[in-house]
Amino acid sequence: MLGLALGTTAARADPPEPFPACLDRLITQGETAGVDRSLAEAQLRGLTPDEGVLANTRNQAEFARPVWAYLEASVTDAKVAEGRRLLSVWGTTLDAIEARYGVDRDTLVAFWGVESSYGAVLDDPSIVRPAIRSLATLACGDATRADYWRDELIAALRILAAGDATPERLTGSWAGALGHTQFMPSVFLKRAVDFDGDGRRDLWGSVPDALASTAHYLVTEGWRRGERWGAEAVLPPGFDLSLADETTARPLAEWRSLGVNPVRSDGLADDQRATLFLPAGQRGPAFLLLPNFAVILRYNTAFAYALTVAHLSDRLRGQPGFATDWPRGDRMLGTEERRDLQDRLVARGFAAGGIDGKIGPRTRAAIRAYQTSIGLPPDGYADAGLLDRLRAEP
Ligand code: CA
Repeated sequence: MLGLALGTTAARADPPEPFPACLDRLITQGETAGVDRSLAEAQLRGLTPDEGVLANTRNQAEFARPVWAYLEASVTDAKVAEGRRLLSVWGTTLDAIEARYGVDRDTLVAFWGVESSYGAVLDDPSIVRPAIRSLATLACGDATRADYWRDELIAALRILAAGDATPERLTGSWAGALGHTQFMPSVFLKRAVDFDGDGRRDLWGSVPDALASTAHYLVTEGWRRGERWGAEAVLPPGFDLSLADETTARPLAEWRSLGVNPVRSDGLADDQRATLFLPAGQRGPAFLLLPNFAVILRYNTAFAYALTVAHLSDRLRGQPGFATDWPRGDRMLGTEERRDLQDRLVARGFAAGGIDGKIGPRTRAAIRAYQTSIGLPPDGYADAGLLDRLRAEP
């Protein structure tokens, strides 16, 4: 979901504020921020917390699914087929959105499919909840991110004040992510557009508004017209893996001269600059990532999410699945194991960017440096074998 801030866990020492008192405080804070007091009172007075919403905040911490599990759950043949059908249904609208924003139709429909299964989640009562109640529950019950949720609640009240949605229409995920595009309310206020011209930005009932709002968001974040996200690539035998450092951009022509060839070249140009990334190490697929991939990451910072959108867009273009398979036999490290891995890297002088159990670019850089120091191929992959090796060292 777009704009959701994922915080870290911390405990609050104070006793919890009673829910009605918290709502009163939020009404006053909304008024200070310019939200009409009577509107906020009508929405918040008498609400009860949604316990299901708070349960979701506690379930978020563990995220040990491998990239390919996330990908394959989201990019199914059925989702590709439905996306291609919708490309046809909404062809005229997509022509107009492409012309105005310069974001291609396959990318837009891929976001739609990944965010809300082309809107199917909007009809799923187990997912969709009244957004004001969810955000009030979080603002009063999730002490680690209370200010963030308060600001999103105030943004949701502004959406009502602007007349873009009725209170009945203003539904979302447990975190208050809204409509076909799953925009958080603050993102809605900044980036949603009224593309069908009915005077309201309607991310629930208007597919043109939803697709154009996604395009508006992407172009605001730097989407490059006419460019792809990148491509899967094949590495030559004996390739120097230190070049796959995620950060050094080289023209595609230079990658080719190094023996790194895109599996498919349609939509690519020799002078485009790409970084090389091996998300599952040397035994998994390699990717040449163009600047638009970083824009997809602005929607959601998880690499698995971005690759899922990118891959679905390619499948919608008619491309097949990956040329190289994933290392499916690997056991994924749990959060504590990932922390242990980071701890042991840091103890050996390889700065891993914090002991948080999240394997990001800095941890992978530390792994590559460690692998190089002991003569292993530096692919930056945090697998169980690497942790075993670190634990076996004195
Ligand atoms: Ca509209």
